[in-house]
Amino acid sequence: MILLEKNQEEMEALADEFEDRFDEIFAFIFLLASAEILLLTSTTLNRWDERWSRILQKAGFYDLLQEYSKRLDEIDKSVRKIATGAVDKKKLALLKKLQIKELEKIGIDAGLNLKKGLYKHIMVGVTQQDLVKAMAKDLQGSRFKSYAKTYVSTAINDYRQLLLNERAKPTDVWVYEGADIDNKTRDFCKCVLNQAGYFNYDQKVAIELNPKRRYNCRHGLFPISEEEALKNGYAKASGVCK
Ligand SMILES: [Zn+2]
Repeated sequence: MILLEKNQEEMEALADEFEDRFDEIFAFIFLLASAEILLLTSTTLNRWDERWSRILQKAGFYDLLQEYSKRLDEIDKSVRKIATGAVDKKKLALLKKLQIKELEKIGIDAGLNLKKGLYKHIMVGVTQQDLVKAMAKDLQGSRFKSYAKTYVSTAINDYRQLLLNERAKPTDVWVYEGADIDNKTRDFCKCVLNQAGYFNYDQKVAIELNPKRRYNCRHGLFPISEEEALKNGYAKASGVCK
């Protein structure tokens, strides 16, 4: 369905944009943190949390979170073309806040991991240059980058699903759509997509909460009238997949 495809494209463009921005900001954080570590002593390490939050601030991390919060409204705009039910404004604000907290966690976790590394290195008495090297491994390693990417795309997908859930009509059925099947698609998603079906509410919830699609899933459950589903070639299905 064209509307769903368009929505998927918009979500992926947004995720790509934020992933790129996260990469840039983490490169900046790395530079600032390197300078900080070269001046670090075991006494000043006690104030690491404060220093880390200043680094995040300076590198534009919190600005990015603010911007992300605004951009979440674009997701809603896109969702409203598909599902038009009303949403409680207070609930929406709450969902948004939750999303920002989740993303903020990336920056906070990075600082804590770094602190752990710093303590470990100070205990065994390595040089500050070596500390920076160790940090580069921690912060710039592909593990951390892919972690941030997973977080962003998962957060965007989750937010879209919450909005779709809120804006659905009680009489709607649900279809499973999103990114086309490729080499990253999980077997579980492949199986549900291949059913080309529509699902009732209970089946939808079972798919939605399946732990196999918890992270990095690029699919969603979209509300649609049964008539519209049939017209678009979906058939009644179970959604059950191993
Ligand atoms: Zn998926």
